[in-house]
Amino acid sequence: MKDIRQQLEKLTPKQRALYELMLKEKARPRQTLARRQGSGPAPASFPQQRLWVLQQLEPECSFAYNVHITVRFFGPLDVGVLERSFNEVVRRHESLRTTLGSEQGAPVLVVHPEVRVPLPVMELGAWPQARQLAEVERRTREESLRPFELERAPLMRGTVLRLAADDHVVLVTMHHLVTDRWSLGVLVRELMALYEAFSLGRPSPLPELPLQYSDYAAWQREQMKGEHLRKELDYWKRQLTPLPPPLELPTDRPRPARKSYRGSREFVRLPPSLTRALKAVAQQQDCTLFMLLLAAFKSVLHRYCGQADISVGSPIANRRLPELELLIGFFVNTLVLRTDLSEDPTFRALLQRVRTTCLQAYSHQDLPFERLVEELHPERHLNRNPLFQVMFSFQNTPRQDLAVQGLSTQYLLVDPGSAKFDLLLELREEVEDEITGWLEYDTDLFDGSTLARLHGHLMRVLERVAVTQEDRLSALPLLTEAERHQLLVEWSGPRRDYPLEETLHARVEAQVERSPHAVAVSFEGHSLTYRELNAQANRLAWHLSALGVGPESRVAVCLERSTHLVVALLATLKAGAAYVPLDPSYPPQRLEWMLEDAKPQVLLAQESLLGRLPGQALPTVLLDTSWDSGRQLSEDNPPPLASPDNLAYVLFTSGSTGRPKGAMNTHRAISNRLLWMQEAYGLGPREAVLQKTPFSFDVSVWEFFWPLRVGARLVVARPGGHQDPAYLASLIHEQHVTTLHFVPPMLQAFLQEPELERACASVRRIICSGEALPAELARRCLQRLPQAELHNLYGPTEAAVDVTAWACRREDERPSVPIGRPIANTYVRLMDGQGGLVPVGVPGELYIGGVQVGRGYLGRPELTAERFVSDPYSPRPQERLYRTGDLARWLPDGSIDFLGRVDFQVKVRGLRIELGEVESALLQAPGVREAVVVAREELAGDKRLVGYVVPQPGQSLDAAVVRALLQQRLPEYMVPS
Ligand code: AMP
Ligand code: MG
Repeated sequence: MKDIRQQLEKLTPKQRALYELMLKEKARPRQTLARRQGSGPAPASFPQQRLWVLQQLEPECSFAYNVHITVRFFGPLDVGVLERSFNEVVRRHESLRTTLGSEQGAPVLVVHPEVRVPLPVMELGAWPQARQLAEVERRTREESLRPFELERAPLMRGTVLRLAADDHVVLVTMHHLVTDRWSLGVLVRELMALYEAFSLGRPSPLPELPLQYSDYAAWQREQMKGEHLRKELDYWKRQLTPLPPPLELPTDRPRPARKSYRGSREFVRLPPSLTRALKAVAQQQDCTLFMLLLAAFKSVLHRYCGQADISVGSPIANRRLPELELLIGFFVNTLVLRTDLSEDPTFRALLQRVRTTCLQAYSHQDLPFERLVEELHPERHLNRNPLFQVMFSFQNTPRQDLAVQGLSTQYLLVDPGSAKFDLLLELREEVEDEITGWLEYDTDLFDGSTLARLHGHLMRVLERVAVTQEDRLSALPLLTEAERHQLLVEWSGPRRDYPLEETLHARVEAQVERSPHAVAVSFEGHSLTYRELNAQANRLAWHLSALGVGPESRVAVCLERSTHLVVALLATLKAGAAYVPLDPSYPPQRLEWMLEDAKPQVLLAQESLLGRLPGQALPTVLLDTSWDSGRQLSEDNPPPLASPDNLAYVLFTSGSTGRPKGAMNTHRAISNRLLWMQEAYGLGPREAVLQKTPFSFDVSVWEFFWPLRVGARLVVARPGGHQDPAYLASLIHEQHVTTLHFVPPMLQAFLQEPELERACASVRRIICSGEALPAELARRCLQRLPQAELHNLYGPTEAAVDVTAWACRREDERPSVPIGRPIANTYVRLMDGQGGLVPVGVPGELYIGGVQVGRGYLGRPELTAERFVSDPYSPRPQERLYRTGDLARWLPDGSIDFLGRVDFQVKVRGLRIELGEVESALLQAPGVREAVVVAREELAGDKRLVGYVVPQPGQSLDAAVVRALLQQRLPEYMVPS
């Protein structure tokens, strides 16, 4: 504990002067501590009261407040004498004979005049050595997890494990109500003095104690009144207003509704050379080693959680009066050390901030933490500590030498299996320059491997700041070379030598040669063979060429789902051009913008939809009319026109500034995506793929072209059919569909269909993508359709549909379904706000690299420059990354966990929406002054957009009118309620 007087001895003269000044300032007349007057039970102290309250709230968790010490004695231990000594300590210290009772709803101390603590011996002499030590660990853990009955004295127990005649392990477990870490030192010191005396047949050498804990408890309550209390409270209220935000360390599992207090430890050791270097730095920087270690710890926490306002709890011995140093009892107080880490300071600057925090906190250390909690009354949670979630403790009291009567001793560090906080870093320097300790963590939240990594990162930071303190926090190195290599190289998608010089449609043409008579497309009871499809597409392609269409030109397509649509897309590619879907259901304003950006050469449409399009003078081919009658058009393949780096398609997605943006994708990029898919899933020629995704969404690209490239059948759902689960089920059944796609909310709806098992007997694989796939939904899908594989794919329209993939597994118990690993010839970088690589487990923004990165946004160079950036980790400067705006983290196995967005893009039923686009549409409505749109979670994982508007002063708004206006600008799915 950082007892002030002890620390003073370690300080530089300047530091000491500062402390002394500080102490003097506090040296006001205070009540002296004397024996309590009056009869009747003493009140419990503040910390005891708090434990007492916790105990009522969570009786099953009282084991979390067990304190234990495990000492091994080498030499001829006389257990009888040890037991006598032990009980003499119990006799001397009232606290060890105390339990809590209650009087008028408040806890009081009940001191039992006589209490015996037996010291049973367990014989392990006959056991092999390895088993003995395992047993010591097991017993320690068992003891530390075994609760005390708080009404029954004593709140301590001991056991001796005899390993050999001259080798014993003594386990002592006490409840925190009657002890603290300092007390353990008192206990051991007294025990040994008594043991020595008793074994020589002498009486106790220890003078009777002048005071007891109950005197302190009463005195503490007296102290915390009036002016002193007010001053302390004022300070802490200022420090902690507004309340510190909870520290959101990235956990391996979601936080359970209740803490179980189960925990584990990762042991830590700083080599003496490092310790010495750190001490030198501390001295140079005019601070204590405590402050330096805390600053290093905070900078790691900051990098892990990305938060700048970081509060860490720290115990303080709270034995400022010499009378108290002799007592066993619950004295320790907790200080909340809150530091602002914002603006990316250098470590040196951080150290000064931490120093100020600590010095101020020390000078207001009297206020019991529990009074503070009472005063601030933070919202109570059963799964989170109030005010801080992470604790730090550094103790530099020399270890006591217990050698006595031919005995030598060794403290054993045993993991007790419990944890009070999310995370605790406990360090001690008991031997000069040897810092050891542990990271104790809540095992409901963290895996051991995560803490092992955090431990490594803390060590790297300590090693670095021992050398220089000039790095900004964002630049403090966390990763080892091996970790960097893993992130940058090993976890990239596999390199594949795919034939990427080929265009998207060349493969289809090759397939036509292989299976001319196989059915290529079925739609509403009508079908086209490969040869028929190819012939129709060729005729249209030749026609498009005649209209001047060629590489890099765009062909707008405005058709409902039909065989015409398939012909139109294929023909556009054959003509060397890129297709631009115009969803006929979009409002005219949006279509107009899309046409403005896309500048298509030709429009392919159907007659019935022409009225929906804004008037324009494009050459138009109406595919549902006999557009080709009288034309002499060849049915042969046109010569290859497009090259792999020409555009294949441009898809418009929502734009945050109010205007949709067209993402450009090349043949090379989409070919890679399709070649990977075929390698990964092996679609066979007898299989059928359902095409139901609206063609303005990129999933439709693989739905159309994957089957056609491998000789499988494309089953086109009727217009509107994608929203009708019953229709889909019957179509799947009729057409023996083997492969289909769902966005998760639609999969959810689909799984509610009755008799799915029968309808979907042919289904071999379900591909999910578009938004996070809930683990529970994945499990249900695998359960209901056990013969089908379920894949979770991830990727933005800007990078050829998907860039990571994960095969869901039936037995998987993970809380979330990963998005998997990068696919062939692609890679992912997860970076923090400063472009640094985030370690495994830590959230970062997801950037995509590799062959699938798109070309940018059509006609929008600034936006393109903003989202398509150069790769800071590539030796080749032309290597670009697409910045997704998605938040994700690496899992230890190299797969990726999707976490959400860094911005205001949302997915509603898989549809990508920038809330900014909807807001800007709302602002266009007359009479609207301000507008906010949010996506609200509905039942069963569904979401809905909700818009809030503030009218112009003096105006009132009619929701129906606003809605009607929005409908003129936005697709129906973007219109909020
Ligand atoms: P889109 O361009 O429509 O494909 O939307 C891309 C965005 O959808 C991504 O940036 C993610 O935010 C989200 N997304 C796509 N697939 C997934 C997935 N499997 N899990 C979670 N989010 C996804
Ligand atoms: Mg996608």
